[in-house]
Amino acid sequence: MNKNIRLVYNRDEMLQLNIATLRSRGVELVEIAKIAHQQQSKYHPEIDFQLCLESVEKILTFRDVFHHVQFAEVDRLAEEKMFKGPIQDILYYDLGLFGLDETLGLDVARNFGSIGQTNFGDIDVNKKGIVAKLNEDGKKDGHCHTLLDDIVGAIAAAASTRVAQVMSEDQALENPSYHKTSIYELFGDQKGKKKKD
Ligand code: MG
Repeated sequence: MNKNIRLVYNRDEMLQLNIATLRSRGVELVEIAKIAHQQQSKYHPEIDFQLCLESVEKILTFRDVFHHVQFAEVDRLAEEKMFKGPIQDILYYDLGLFGLDETLGLDVARNFGSIGQTNFGDIDVNKKGIVAKLNEDGKKDGHCHTLLDDIVGAIAAAASTRVAQVMSEDQALENPSYHKTSIYELFGDQKGKKKKD
């Protein structure tokens, strides 16, 4: 194996590469954040849009999400008719029974548990915003968004779920009886000194 080939990237690089890849396919992070915001606004009307955007950025730093976003390159290859055999038309014409695109979306959403997957299902069924646009544009001649619409929907679902988790944590911290436990307290120590047996 050629040791000079780069296979791994740090989190900031993965974020920047994901932003560039999504942008090259017509997707801006702010559009993904809008879906997360819309979904969570049902439960938290006061939700801060910046938190949604930060959550999208955070999710785009995960290595497995990086691989999913980069794998959406398959759509572009289908646009360029690079595949041989039935898979070329199955991808290009976005066969409803294909299903592997939703599997990839669920894979991303699974990072945020069953709620993440439920949120992805909602976005997948009730296509909104950039997901609806990708879906519609993908039907135009020369365009294929078979994988991308699901991956973008899943990022929105993961971001939406993260927002809910952050807001729940904030809510819990407002509890007046809340007391932040130090690790030294757990072991009955004083001022960080190690307990002697
Ligand atoms: Mg799809």
